[in-house]
Amino acid sequence: DIAMYRAKLAGGNRYQVFSEDMHLMARDRLSLEIGLRQAIERDEFTLLYQPIYRLRDNALYGFEALIRWQHPTQGFLLPDRFIPLAEETGLILPIGDWVIWRACRDLQYWHEQFPQCQLSVNVNLSNRQLMHPALPEQVLAALEQTQIPPHCLHLEMTESVGIDQPDQVRETLCKLKAQGIKLSLDDFGTGYSSLRYLTHLPIDILKVDRSFVKLITETEQRPLVIDAIVSLAKGLALEVVAEGVEHPYQVTRLRELGCDYVQGYYFSRPLTTEQVSALLAQIHTP
Ligand code: C2E
Ligand code: CA
Ligand code: CA
Ligand code: CA
Repeated sequence: DIAMYRAKLAGGNRYQVFSEDMHLMARDRLSLEIGLRQAIERDEFTLLYQPIYRLRDNALYGFEALIRWQHPTQGFLLPDRFIPLAEETGLILPIGDWVIWRACRDLQYWHEQFPQCQLSVNVNLSNRQLMHPALPEQVLAALEQTQIPPHCLHLEMTESVGIDQPDQVRETLCKLKAQGIKLSLDDFGTGYSSLRYLTHLPIDILKVDRSFVKLITETEQRPLVIDAIVSLAKGLALEVVAEGVEHPYQVTRLRELGCDYVQGYYFSRPLTTEQVSALLAQIHTP
């Protein structure tokens, strides 16, 4: 009957549209994956560096390395566009290794050029990297080659680290920490089992997620959540970094609360290596 025929046709069309979408998505994904496989050899990744300041004396403390991909046809890609795919495909292992080496070499150069400042560099690690037993050796090889003091390398991981293979991850972290490398818990407060991790993993530093920093408004008298996080960190003898700081009144509050370090657009956007060198030259001109 006609009604039935129409419904089928409509359904059929819908199906067709849906499947074309899927096809497009799969094709996009595949071409992105092919590109990702060649990106290292073709030297298409770069690191930007966002300054981190110490509130105690307002000194430049170090930088967080943030990856970018100069894609041959799609332009400058942010990590959200390709890191998830890199994690799924396992390509995060060679890419992550590249990031560690690049960051250590860049820091080595800045240490040589500006020996007065004991700057540190923060490198983001995916869980996949932390579950890989070769990670400590790779990190130590990079430190050895570049002669960077281990305490100047900070490794950032999220609260979901160690959800899979907790013993393996713990062992890896203990090895890194035993060498003097600093371990930092990123996006703190957004995961689901923060407290358990704090007591089970050898963490040195908490990075308060920017969603909490956002809660510090101009009129807020007591930013309770941040206050609680900073107190918690102090009680556990951890240092605290606030990220996503965009306004001067947030800096004032964070200082009052005893936060140790700040990072965010208020101080600086992520910089190219040339911009970092210029910043350091400016700071260290006699
Ligand atoms: P994340 O580790 O939480 O890094 C902070 C992100 O916030 C960066 O975005 C940074 O540019 C941005 N940001 C900094 N200050 C502000 C601010 O004041 N306001 C706002 N709204 N945003 C700010 P980006 O560079 O796009 O990186 C996004 C995420 O990609 C990172 O989040 C990190 O999870 C991941 N990522 C970046 N580089 C790497 C890498 O080398 N390896 C791995 N595995 N992940 C990376
Ligand atoms: Ca980070
Ligand atoms: Ca973060
Ligand atoms: Ca994040």
